[in-house]
Amino acid sequence: MPEQSLPFAIDKDAALEHQLAAQRARRPVDPLLSLVVPVFNEEETIGPFLSTVVPLLERDGIRFEIVFVNDGSLDDTFACLFHRSRADRRLRIVNLSRNFGKEAALTAGIDHARGDILIPMDIDLQDPPELIGSFIARWREGYDIVYGIRTARHTDTRAKRVSAGWFYRVFNSMSPVRIPPNVGDFRLVDRRAVEVLRQLPERNRFMKGLFAWVGFNSVGVPYERPERVAGTSKFNFWRLWNFAIDGLVSFSTAPLRAWFYVGLVIATVAVLYALFIVTRVLIFGVDTPGYASLLIAVLLMGAIQLLSLGIIGEYLGRLFVEVKARPIYVIEGVYEDAPPKPPVT
Ligand code: UDP
Ligand code: MG
Repeated sequence: MPEQSLPFAIDKDAALEHQLAAQRARRPVDPLLSLVVPVFNEEETIGPFLSTVVPLLERDGIRFEIVFVNDGSLDDTFACLFHRSRADRRLRIVNLSRNFGKEAALTAGIDHARGDILIPMDIDLQDPPELIGSFIARWREGYDIVYGIRTARHTDTRAKRVSAGWFYRVFNSMSPVRIPPNVGDFRLVDRRAVEVLRQLPERNRFMKGLFAWVGFNSVGVPYERPERVAGTSKFNFWRLWNFAIDGLVSFSTAPLRAWFYVGLVIATVAVLYALFIVTRVLIFGVDTPGYASLLIAVLLMGAIQLLSLGIIGEYLGRLFVEVKARPIYVIEGVYEDAPPKPPVT
């Protein structure tokens, strides 16, 4: 409908401003910030992380807690965290019974965070803590989700940049829920979005997608992603590849549906070809050659069937995991200065 025909001028900015103002009014004056930090074999990075983040938050006068989720580390990560949490009651440790993977660890941390606002963060300082201030400023403007956008990915290899670019393109073309490109888990989430997120029951936690699914007004803050301060990345090529498949399969059924169209095209071609052959036989009589075309048709059909079966298998496998409905994580214990509470799973 042309805008002129409306009795009033459409002012999108004013509408958004109205929404934001309503949220602004609900913002607590002195919010509690929960940093949720999953850790797996990070004994070297805990020191640099705390000595950077804590003074920064204290300087800005932000009330905070840090929820560390020890994701079954095999080194001295837990001992190191425990020692520090004894000295500072703002640090809490959720200790998982084994390694469940980053997404599960984040879920555990989100379930245990008490803050009005929540920021998932990597411990390797690749998510610059200086950004927290600007995240909170945008949140105060009324946005429920403020995400960090990685501008230049200098610190990533070329292969990782290219494959990430392709992933976002493919994901967004297939999934009804769009995820903004170059956005990681580093973001601020308001309590009301956290509560929605916590209601999502799936076992397959593709966090970026789940955050996007929740919706609400969101805004991005650009930043440059620095190098890891210490230690090594826990994600190799194979793990990233599986992560990408998990993301795609849990947010889109397009790969399943695609086979219908592939089948349709092949069936059409087959019918036309059959008509052609029959006509040719009727006109020119029987002609024996055809070994090559026969072989190609058989191989092609076989390959396509295996491929589509494989894709169905991807979904079936995930369905299997969802139906079993095992807990997303198992907690060995929650360690904090206050008397320990029974674990929530
Ligand atoms: N991590 C985790 N469980 C895992 C793997 C990683 O909790 O199974 C944590 C890790 O300790 C770090 C964060 O996830 O705090 C990001 O990991 P990393 O820096 O290795 O990933 P990258 O930045 O290379 O993508
Ligand atoms: Mg990292």
